[in-house]
Amino acid sequence: ESTEEDHTDAMLVARAPVVTVMGHVDHGKTSLLDFIRTSKVAAGEAGGITQHIGAYHVETPRGMLTFLDTPGHEAFTAMRARGAKATDIVILVVAADDGVMPQTREAIHHASAAGVPLVVAINKVDKEEANPDRVKQELVSEGVVPEDYGGDVMFMPVSAKTGQGIDELLEAVLLQAEVLELQAPADTPAKGLIIEARLDKGRGPVASLLVQSGTLRKGDALLVGATFGRVRAMLDENGKSIDEAGPSIPVEILGLSDVPAAGDEAIALADEKKAREIALFRQGKFRDVKLAKQQAAKLESIFEQMGESEIRTLPLIVKADVQGSQEALVQSLNKLSTEEVRVNVIHGAVGAITESDINLAQASGAVVIGFNTRADSGARKLAETFGVDIRYYNIIYDAVDDVRAALSGMLSPEKRENIIGMVEVRQVFRVPKIGAVAGCYVTEGTIKRGALVRVLRDHTVIHSGTLDSLKRFKDDVKEVRSGFECGLSVKNYNEIEEGDQLEVYEIQEIARSL
Ligand code: GDP
Repeated sequence: ESTEEDHTDAMLVARAPVVTVMGHVDHGKTSLLDFIRTSKVAAGEAGGITQHIGAYHVETPRGMLTFLDTPGHEAFTAMRARGAKATDIVILVVAADDGVMPQTREAIHHASAAGVPLVVAINKVDKEEANPDRVKQELVSEGVVPEDYGGDVMFMPVSAKTGQGIDELLEAVLLQAEVLELQAPADTPAKGLIIEARLDKGRGPVASLLVQSGTLRKGDALLVGATFGRVRAMLDENGKSIDEAGPSIPVEILGLSDVPAAGDEAIALADEKKAREIALFRQGKFRDVKLAKQQAAKLESIFEQMGESEIRTLPLIVKADVQGSQEALVQSLNKLSTEEVRVNVIHGAVGAITESDINLAQASGAVVIGFNTRADSGARKLAETFGVDIRYYNIIYDAVDDVRAALSGMLSPEKRENIIGMVEVRQVFRVPKIGAVAGCYVTEGTIKRGALVRVLRDHTVIHSGTLDSLKRFKDDVKEVRSGFECGLSVKNYNEIEEGDQLEVYEIQEIARSL
């Protein structure tokens, strides 16, 4: 996303962090979101009844925060798979009486694959069975390391029931946001993201939109995915009508021609006719555009990983039937990594391959490996739509072998020099407008037009270049074998002399394997 780049002239202002809450089922994600909303969202005019518009923002003495109202990594990664980045910071909720569970691990992997930082909320500390220290240790083994253990992740003990620690949690999130230096232009036409949308019987298409940059105003013409319209009404999370919304502010809008999809990008345009034109074009071609965009995003993420570290990475998601085989497989796969190419298991877990796995694969350009396990029907369909590669195995050796072959394909080919012929220069003619033409004798091998050549004088290289023209008598030829005479010239080089030796060679690229 190059929201910032598009507005290099525009003044950037700090913007609020957008937060997604993740964690295992029943650890208190919904309770936490509800507590923050009811205790912090400024009461609306209609008696403080908050509306569900998919997101809400809160003001604190330290600054503003915006929360996405759909908790969990599934929604988060589904958005990413569509090319949308909605979240700046993830609050990972772990119940202090239950500790790290499978979906806690999934959440960690999904956030880390997206490069989104975590703030940990150890929830339910009001309970007698609460054991925050155990939770900390368990998270450390998952690579989530608190500051007092030498890491950089903030851990906050909270209770979504009593409200204990919630203010401190919000402060921690704002502190983390400061590090990210989140900015957006405020004074430009709005760009945003659809969080959710539905058809309302009375009001028509209703969409929740998170403004990401610029300012959205009532009356703006909007292009949203393959739909368009004009902002007829704009409401905040209190159901209160508002006239404008800046970066990181979620709003509900009316006035679109159709119901857009979650993850669609919204852009304010100067006139509605233009918005309509593009929307109609997209309706006809949307499938292609979408696919092209997905392909581009996939490539980008692969290039990003390559550029990041010089080493090339093969991201994998490994699902297995039992813990033992999952661990054994991941261990063997990791062993394939070398200094040049690396296996990166971004998510490994026990169980069937789910839609959430496919979304993660799509968002990260990963290949999914199912070991003695299968994709459920939803996952299969989604994988087909996205073109995500799922591979099934029931023998570890086979899986390792295939991944080794894939890694080998990522190795840059070895370049090998092949000397194909030697030449003696016997006579040099200076031809006006053409330059030096050497009358030669091929002493070894076969020389070819276009091949690389080194000019040697007294066994020293005095020039490196390419064989330009090659002639036998008056005829242009492609190659000349040893024992024959020929006329030749070296591209852009006229200093050739009688007695010089020419070494003619080619560079061969040889595929390597691990
Ligand atoms: P979610 O599945 O992660 O969204 O979890 P919920 O928010 O639905 O919470 C699951 C259960 O834990 C509910 O019965 C909540 O009332 C309870 N719960 C959530 N937070 C707390 C807490 O801080 N303390 C206590 N004692 N119970 C909590």
